[in-house]
Amino acid sequence: MSPIVSPVRSLILIVIDGLTPSMFEQVVGDGSAPALALLVSHGSYRRAISTFPSLTPVCLSSLATGAHPDVHEIPHLVWYHRGEQRLVEYGSSFGAVRAAGTRRSLQDTVYELNASHLGTRAVTVYEALEDAGLTAAAVNITCYRGRTPHLPTVPILTRPAYGPKRFFFYNLFESDVTGAPLSVRNRPGGTIDAYAGAVARWLVTRDGFDFLVYYLSDYDYASHAQGPDAAHGALARCDDAVASLIAAAGGEEEFLERYAVVLCADHGQTSVSEVARLEDVYPDELVTASNRAGMVYAAGELQALATRLDGNESVDVVLYREQEEAVARRDGEELRFAPSTGADEGFTTSGDASILDHPDGLERAWAALANPNAGELIVSAALGWEFADLAGRHHSGGGSHGSLLTGDSEVPMLTVGLDVEARSITDVMPLALEHFGVPLPSYARLRPRR
Ligand SMILES: [Zn+2]
Repeated sequence: MSPIVSPVRSLILIVIDGLTPSMFEQVVGDGSAPALALLVSHGSYRRAISTFPSLTPVCLSSLATGAHPDVHEIPHLVWYHRGEQRLVEYGSSFGAVRAAGTRRSLQDTVYELNASHLGTRAVTVYEALEDAGLTAAAVNITCYRGRTPHLPTVPILTRPAYGPKRFFFYNLFESDVTGAPLSVRNRPGGTIDAYAGAVARWLVTRDGFDFLVYYLSDYDYASHAQGPDAAHGALARCDDAVASLIAAAGGEEEFLERYAVVLCADHGQTSVSEVARLEDVYPDELVTASNRAGMVYAAGELQALATRLDGNESVDVVLYREQEEAVARRDGEELRFAPSTGADEGFTTSGDASILDHPDGLERAWAALANPNAGELIVSAALGWEFADLAGRHHSGGGSHGSLLTGDSEVPMLTVGLDVEARSITDVMPLALEHFGVPLPSYARLRPRR
C-alpha cells in the first residue's frame, strides 16, 4: 500500500497596511467583516509585533525577508544614502517627493529599493521559494525582489524590474494580462486595492501560484486621514476583497482546501495631534524624518547631540551606538544594552530598563541601529506627536505610525491552515518557507510550534 501523501496547500499572504489589532478584533467581533470572521473561525489569531521604525517600506521588507533592518537595510521612508551622498525618499507625502525630486523618488521606490537598497545578505521569500522550484506571485508589495525580469508597461520607465514569476505592481509591471482596471484613478475611492483585487482573483481563478502576496494599501491611506480605528469604509472594502478571493476559488470549502492563509498588517497606527520639526533641534545636521520616527546623520559627539532632546515633549526615546553598546535615552536617563555573548538570545543591559519596555524593544532598537543605512541618532516619537517631513507635511488630526510604542507596533496576525506561531512580522517569511519545506536563510529562525 502506498502512503497517503497530502499535497502542500498553496499559501496566500494578505497584508492590510496600517490595520490595528483593535480595529480587526472589532469588525470580526461585531459581524461587519464576514470574510475576515470566516477566516478567523478556521484559523488562529493573535497580536504580533512589527519592526522599527514601524513604517511601510521597512515593515514590508521585514515581511518579505524575515529580518529586521540590520539585515534588510531599509531604514525609513526617507534616509540619507552615504554612498551616493543624497536623500532617498520613498513617498512620505507628495510634497516630500517633490522636495527630493519626483523622478528620483519614483526610481527609488519602483526600482532601487529592490535593485540596490535591499541588503545583499537578505533573501526574499520569492527568491527562496522560486529557487526551490515553486511559483511566487506578488501584487503591489513594494518589497518584491526576485529573479525574473519584467519589462515596464509605461514609457516613462525604461528598464526591467526583477520580481517573482507572477508580478503585478500598480499597472507599471504586469507579468500577465489580467484585464485589471487602472490602479491610480481615484486613491481615496479605493482604486489601488480594486486593481490588486482584480489581479488576485485572476490568479486564484487560474490557481496560478504556490505562494501569493496580496498587499492592500488603501486602508493605511484612509486611516492616516480619518485616524486609527475609524476607517470602516476602507476596511469593508478589504473584507470584500477577501470575500471575492474566496468566491474566485469556488466558495469557502474549496478555498480552505486549496489555500493556507496568513493575514496581517505591516504596522499599527496611533492618533496624532501635535507636530515637531527635528530640524529645529539639529540645524547643522542632516535630519530625515517622517511620520513618527526621525533620524539624524551626524558627525561628532552623539551623547551631546542626544542630550538636546532631554525634556523635548515630542520625543519618547532617542537611540545611538557607542562602540559595542547601544544607548537609549529619555529625559536624561539612559539604558545601555548589547546582545548577550552567551548561548541565550537576550540582551545584557545596564541603566533604566523602563526606557525600552516597548514590545520587543531591545531587539527592535538594536536592529534599527545596526542598519548601515540608519542615521547616527534614531528618534522615536512620543504618543500623539509626529515629525514633519521634508516638505513640512504631517497627519495632525489623523493617524500615524513609526515609533516603538505599542499602538504603532502591534499588528493583527491570523494564520489559517498552519501550525506555527507568528509573534513578529519577521516570522512570516520563515513560516512560509517551512510550510513548503524550503531551508531558511542563516539569519532567520522559526518560532516553536504551537
Ligand atoms: Zn502609513
